[in-house]
Amino acid sequence: MTSAPNDAGPLTPARRLMTLTRMDQTAQRRLPQLPAIVEAWRADGRPGRDDNTPGLILICEHASNALPLDWPELGGDLGISAATRASHAAWDIGALGLSRELAPRLAPQTGGALLIHAPLSRLVYDLNRPPDHAGAIPPRSEVHDIPGNTSLTLEQRLARLDSVYLPFQASVSAEIARLVMRGKRPVIIAMHSFTPVFLGQRREVEFGILFDDDDDIAQHLMLASRGSGLVTRLNEPYTAQSSVAHTTRIHARPMRLHHTMLEIRNDLIADPAGQARIAGILAPLLRSAISEALGNEAPRL
Ligand SMILES: [Zn+2]
Repeated sequence: MTSAPNDAGPLTPARRLMTLTRMDQTAQRRLPQLPAIVEAWRADGRPGRDDNTPGLILICEHASNALPLDWPELGGDLGISAATRASHAAWDIGALGLSRELAPRLAPQTGGALLIHAPLSRLVYDLNRPPDHAGAIPPRSEVHDIPGNTSLTLEQRLARLDSVYLPFQASVSAEIARLVMRGKRPVIIAMHSFTPVFLGQRREVEFGILFDDDDDIAQHLMLASRGSGLVTRLNEPYTAQSSVAHTTRIHARPMRLHHTMLEIRNDLIADPAGQARIAGILAPLLRSAISEALGNEAPRL
């Protein structure tokens, strides 16, 4: 062990305190970088990548209800109950399972498909909200208080931004940029689910198609949905002309990629059988809407 010359001398209580303080500072852990999870399907619908360049990216920002239990610096268990963690407040129930059913059904049409999804609960950081949005790290979600999100310091909020939000967005940007450089114009679809009852109000809509300023896919999808058996609405249960379209705004719009955001009522996709059934209904509608929209290619940059 070495020591600087000015460290020489007896270890007085004051010097001992200084040493301990220094050790505490150096013992601070480097926080993890938590990129998105990326899954791929080949053009023949099997999992994996082939020589084709995928023309479809499904994004599932609310896929997970995992909490950073080993990282109190990122909120740990957030102080929430098991019931809150299992509820729609923590994640989009069924959205990941539905996306995994849809991707292989659509991959043959689009030359392959990617599914990009979140590693942690939206209650740690809502990846579909801009950093200045109050809901990015929500202290309350519908009827659920989130104790671990109240009274956060700026440093604590920045830690979540650095560990969760920025790596996720970098993953999405990288996948899109690689496809665009290879000459592809991938269609971007954000996949979500919503609760049948919100603040005591029952929602009749089953399938919501949200659009912001590019409605090509949305309008084609709405037309194709006639006779699907699903109660389908445009911009319900909420409008995309709000902060809920953050992902498509920052990833699809700058590249002028066709995009839409889908909301499926979560009681329809809560289990694998429901996910497969709804994927079976949505896949032909999406195939039709994607082919119509790609025939009307948006102008490139
Ligand atoms: Zn969602």
